[in-house]
Amino acid sequence: ELGRKMFAGEIDFLKGVVDMSGLPPADRLEVCFAGRSNVGKSTLINALTGRKALARASNTPGRTQEINYFTMADSHYLVDLPGYGFANAPVAVVQKWQALLKQYLSGRQTLRRAFVLVDARHGIKPVDEEIMSLLDSAAVTFQCVLTKTDKIKERDREALLAQVRSRLAPHPAAFPELILTSSEKGEGIATLRATIATLE
Ligand code: GDP
Repeated sequence: ELGRKMFAGEIDFLKGVVDMSGLPPADRLEVCFAGRSNVGKSTLINALTGRKALARASNTPGRTQEINYFTMADSHYLVDLPGYGFANAPVAVVQKWQALLKQYLSGRQTLRRAFVLVDARHGIKPVDEEIMSLLDSAAVTFQCVLTKTDKIKERDREALLAQVRSRLAPHPAAFPELILTSSEKGEGIATLRATIATLE
């Protein structure tokens, strides 16, 4: 399996970043993961890396507004962006994180792809489109990863895919292929690993 080796090695939490000066040196490729809170991002990162407690580090209260860096096989950074779409987040907090996100996305030369996670039960929501527009402006290619596919019925898949494809169509930075995943059932995890491993 392509990507198996990369993810079989050491994957470690490196640091939580709160401003641009805290970013580690841009000395290797990186990929980032974005998604609404509760989309299943930590669970997916844990499934990808096969390490149950890994992304918990980034889900502890103090870390939720940080850009969390993990090192993978000494060759890549895996970047966990703060979850968005908190209903009750204070405006100041949201603005601060949007500013940091914008700076990060537009200034990171080594960022090869953003994976935008979307809950298969909900499809693409306006708050996801905001991130996608930000990625368009920053010219960062993004790929949509549908999560929790085990929660939807087989017969509803086509409608979901149609909704997602039509929402992605206007976004110039959208990578056309979707990745369907279930951290619960293991669907799509190998595909996602292979996708990351083949980025150049
Ligand atoms: P995050 O806020 O995006 O990091 O979301 P979490 O990873 O904490 O997941 C939110 C909730 O969704 C948790 O209750 C998970 O157990 C559940 N969840 C995550 N991935 C899956 C999945 O693939 N299938 C199912 N059925 N539940 C999932």
